[in-house]
Amino acid sequence: MLRQKAFVKKTKSGKVVRVVKEHYLRDDIWCSLEACKGCEHTEPVLSSTPNISKLFPLPHYIIPDTNIFINQIDMMEKPQMTNVIVLQTVLEEVKHLSPSIYKRVRDMITDREKRFYVFSNEHHRETFIEKLKDESPNDRNDRAIRVATKWYGNHIKDLKPSVSVVMMSDDSANRDKAAADSLQAASAKQYIESLDDTELLDMLTSATDLDEGNRIIYAEHLTPLHLSNGIKNGKFYQGKIGISSHNYLEGSIFTKVNGQETTVLIVGRENLNRAVDGDIVAVEILPKSEWRTTPTGVVVDEEEEEAEEESLRKEKKESTEGSSEDTVMTDADKSSSEPTPEELASSQPYAKVVGIIRRNWRQYCGFIDRKSVHTPAGSTAPVNVMFYAMETKIPKIKFRTRQAHSLLGQRVIVAIDSWPKTSRYPFGHFVRSLGEAGDKSTETEVLLLEHDVPFHEFSKQVLSFLPTEGENWIVQPEHFVGREDFRSLNVCSIDPPGCTDIDDALHVTPLPNGNYQVGVHIADVTHFVKPGNAMDLEAASRGTTVYLVDKRIDMLPGLLGTNLCSLRSNVERLAFSCIWELNDSAEIVSVRFAKSVIASKASLTYEEAQNRIDDDRMQDDLTKGIRTLNMLAKKLKQRRLDLGALTLASPEVRFSLEHDTQDPVDVEMKELKETNALVEEFMLLANISVARKIFEKFPDSAMLRCHPTPPAANFEKLEKAVARMNIQIDHSTSKTLSDSLDNAVLPEEPYFNKLLRIMTTRCMMQALYFCSGAKTEQEFRHYGLATDIYTHFTSPIRRYSDVMVHRQLYAAIDSSVSYGSELTDKEDMNELCAVLNHRNRMAQHAARSSVELFTHLFFKNKTEEEEGYVIRILKNAFIVLVPKYGIEGIVYASAKVPKGSKAENGSNGPAAGQAVLVYNPDTDSLQSTEVVPEGEPPKVQIQLFQKVMVQITIDDDLKGGGEGGMRQKLKMELLKPWIEGISVQGECNKDDPAAVAHVTALATPAPQAKAGSDKKRGGQETQKRGGKRSKA
Ligand SMILES: [Zn+2]
Repeated sequence: MLRQKAFVKKTKSGKVVRVVKEHYLRDDIWCSLEACKGCEHTEPVLSSTPNISKLFPLPHYIIPDTNIFINQIDMMEKPQMTNVIVLQTVLEEVKHLSPSIYKRVRDMITDREKRFYVFSNEHHRETFIEKLKDESPNDRNDRAIRVATKWYGNHIKDLKPSVSVVMMSDDSANRDKAAADSLQAASAKQYIESLDDTELLDMLTSATDLDEGNRIIYAEHLTPLHLSNGIKNGKFYQGKIGISSHNYLEGSIFTKVNGQETTVLIVGRENLNRAVDGDIVAVEILPKSEWRTTPTGVVVDEEEEEAEEESLRKEKKESTEGSSEDTVMTDADKSSSEPTPEELASSQPYAKVVGIIRRNWRQYCGFIDRKSVHTPAGSTAPVNVMFYAMETKIPKIKFRTRQAHSLLGQRVIVAIDSWPKTSRYPFGHFVRSLGEAGDKSTETEVLLLEHDVPFHEFSKQVLSFLPTEGENWIVQPEHFVGREDFRSLNVCSIDPPGCTDIDDALHVTPLPNGNYQVGVHIADVTHFVKPGNAMDLEAASRGTTVYLVDKRIDMLPGLLGTNLCSLRSNVERLAFSCIWELNDSAEIVSVRFAKSVIASKASLTYEEAQNRIDDDRMQDDLTKGIRTLNMLAKKLKQRRLDLGALTLASPEVRFSLEHDTQDPVDVEMKELKETNALVEEFMLLANISVARKIFEKFPDSAMLRCHPTPPAANFEKLEKAVARMNIQIDHSTSKTLSDSLDNAVLPEEPYFNKLLRIMTTRCMMQALYFCSGAKTEQEFRHYGLATDIYTHFTSPIRRYSDVMVHRQLYAAIDSSVSYGSELTDKEDMNELCAVLNHRNRMAQHAARSSVELFTHLFFKNKTEEEEGYVIRILKNAFIVLVPKYGIEGIVYASAKVPKGSKAENGSNGPAAGQAVLVYNPDTDSLQSTEVVPEGEPPKVQIQLFQKVMVQITIDDDLKGGGEGGMRQKLKMELLKPWIEGISVQGECNKDDPAAVAHVTALATPAPQAKAGSDKKRGGQETQKRGGKRSKA
C-alpha cells in the first residue's frame, strides 16, 4: 500500500516547491517473538521467557518511550534490561534529540544478548497513524507508541505460555491515556522498584530525592537567545572552560577580547556558576575593580573546603529563612585585598559565567566519600552520598544509592544529570562499579576512562576489514603494480628493545657522484585501511595508540600493527618511501616519494646499532651504512641546532617490571643513545619533506603540525628566578632561547642545566595538528624544531594524523589516485584535527598517570629521603621535582598538626593550618613572616631552583576517609631546610639543631599561648580545625 503526503516547502533561494513524500505501508513487518509462529521472522530477537515484575501478572516485553532512553540510558544499558521493543517512532526521536544516546541505543540493538528489537511501527499497516488536526507532533508520537503497544498486546495475547507488553513512560498523562485504553504502563521508577534490584534502583535519575533545599545559591543561567545576542553584540564571550587541576574553583577560557587572544579567568564558585570542565560557556567580563592580581594557583586544601561546608551546614540549620544576600555563596578568597593599580595594569581579565552553551558532561570515575555515608553499616536504605571524581577538576557529585556501604572502597562511575541553582553540587546517578580501589587493573581502567581513552575490543565489524588471509597474508606479485622494488636494498630498523610495531626503516647507498641515496621507509598502513570503512572510522576516533607502563592500547587491530604493517626483518612488506639524494654535508639535492616493497635486513635495538657503529671489526655493508647514516644525522642535527631547534628535556623514567606480577621493582631515568638521535633526524627530515609536498598539492586542506611561539608571559617567572643567578634567558626566537639555554651552566650545580630545560619545556605551547587552510603561512612555524613547515608521516601504525598524511601524499605523487572530500574538505579536516589534538593530549596524560600509578606501587611501604629541586611556587605550597625518580610532589606551606601531639593547639610552633610562609609576588617566593629590618632578606625563603631534601612516602591518609579513597598520593615532606611547622624529622636531618629543638619542645608540656597580636587569629584557626577534626 502506498500513501502519499504532499506539502509545500520554501527552498533556500525562496522558491516554493511542492514536495511529495511517499510512505509505503507494509504487511511483512514481524513481531520477532520466538513463540510466535504466525509471523515469518527468521531469527526472532525476543525471548519466549521475557521479564517478570511484581507489578504485572504476566511475563512481558518492555516498550519504552523516547524520554526513557534519553533520561535513563545508563539503566537501559544494564544487562538486566532485556527483551525491549524499540519503536521506530522512538528511535527516530532519540536520533534527533541526542546523537550520542542514539549511538548507544544502536549498540544495544546490535548486541544479541540485549534482545532489543526495532519494530518499524511507522511502516506497519496496522500501527501507522496520521497526525490529527490540532494534534502536536509530540502528542501524535505518544499516540503512535500507545497504538503500537496495543497492537503488540493483541498480536501476542493467545501465545502459550502467556506473555504481555508494558509501555514504560515517565509522562503520567501518557500513562493515564494508556490505562484508559486498558494498556499496561509504568514509570521507570515504578517498574524498577518492583524488581528489587538495588543496582538498577541506583541508576534511576531523579533529582527530587537529592534536592535538600530551596535556597538559591547560583545565579540563573541566561536563555540561549539572550546568550547568542550577547555574544553577537560583544557583551559576552564564548569559550570552552578549562578548570585548573590544582583548584577546581579556578577556571579559564581562551578567547578574543578587544581583538586580542587572551586567557580570561573565572575564579570562585559564584563566578563559575555551575560550569564544569569542558563545558562551552558564555562569560561576562567583571568590572576591573573585581579583578585580582595574577593568581599563582592555590591548592585547594580539602580540609578547608570541608570546614567551609560544615559552617555552611550549620548556617543552613540556624537560619530558617535567609535573605537572598546571605544565601549567595561566599568564597574563601573573596576577602583578599583589592589589587593596586599597578597590579591591575598587568593582570588578566576576570569574568563570570552567565550561561552554558553546551554541556560536556560525561561519566566520571571516582569514589564515595566515606564521611558522607551516615547510615549504619550494612544498611541498604537509600541515602544521598557525595562522590569525588578522580579528576580534581570535577566538583563533588551528589547521588542517591542503596549500596553505599558495599560501594565504599570501590572505584565507581557516576554520571551528572543536573545542577539546579539551589544546589551547591551537581546531582548524578550511579552507573557501575569498576572494582577494588588500589587494585592495579582497576586503577588502570580508571585512568583510561578518566582520560577518555577508548579501550574496548575492536568490534567484529572493524575486524571484518582485515585481509581475509590473516597472519598468512604475504606480498603477492600484483602488489608490485605501481610500487618500486626495494627488496635488494640494505634496509634496517632501529627501535627501543621489545618494539613490535615497527613503523619505520632506513637505508643508505653511496652514489657514484660521491653523494648518498638515503631512504626512509614507512609502513604502508593505508594500503590496508581504506577511507570511511569501519576500521578507518575506529582508528580516526581513537586517534593514537596509547602507551601505558604495562600495556598498550592500539589504534589499529594487532594483525596490522604488530604484523602485516610492522616492518620486521626478513619478510617482505609494503612501504611508503621517501628517497633523498644528500650530499656530503647532508644537504638535500633532490627528494622523491614512492610506494614500495622492502625486505628489511635487520631489526636492531638502539644499543645493537650503537655497538655496530662502535665495533671497528664490523665492516659489512649494513654496518657501514649505519655509520654513514650516523655521520649524516650528526650534520643534520648540527644544522637544525644552528637554526635554533631546541633541545628540551623531560624527567622521564623507566620502570623495570617483575615478569610475573608486572609490579615495578626498579625505576631509572631513560637514557638516550646516539642512535636514538640518528633515527630521529631522518624522521624529522622525512616529515618536513612530506609536509612541503602535501601543502603544495592541498594548499587549503593539508594536515600539518605547528608549534606556536610561546607568549612572553610564560617565561616571566623563570626569567626572574634565573636572573638571581646572573643568568639571562632570551626567548625572542628559538635560536636565542637555545643559545641562552646552552650558556646557562652553573659549575657548582651540574643538574641545573637539565632542570632549566625541563622548566623551559613547561613554558612551551602544545604542538598541534591543523588544517593548512585555517592558518596563515607564518603560523605554520614549528617553534621547537625551528622549521617553517612540519607534519607527521612516519608513524601511521600508531597515529591517525599520519594515515591522513599518507593519503594526501599518495594523491600528491600519483595523479591517477582517486580520492574523496576527506582529503580536500577544510571543515572536515579542521574537525579531525581537533579530535586528534584532544586524543593526543589525553594519551599523554594517561601515560603520565600510568607512570604515577606505578611510582606509587614502587614507593608502597618505602620511606625514601632524596634530593629535590623547587620547580614551582604556589600561593600556599611549592612543588618539588626529585630527579632520581622523575617525580614531583607538593609541599604545603601551612603548619601541620604534629604527629603524635595531643595538644593540637598548644605546641610552641605555629598553629596548625596557619601559613608559615607567605607568598611574595615580587620575588615569586614563599617567605617567613617575621619582621626584618629594611633591606634584609627574610629568615626563611623558598625559591625556584632551590635544592631541598625531601622525604617521600605514600600518603595513607586518603581523602574519603582512608582505604579506597583518593588514588594513593605521593607524600613529600620537607627535611632540609628545617622550617618550623613544615619540616619533619628524618635520617638526614636528625642532627640538625633546629629539628632536635623541635622534638624536645614536643616532649615538654605545652607553654601558655604566646602573647602578641597573632595570638587571637592563631587560636581561632586552631579551634576551628580542632573542632572539625574531632568530628571526623
Ligand atoms: Zn508475531
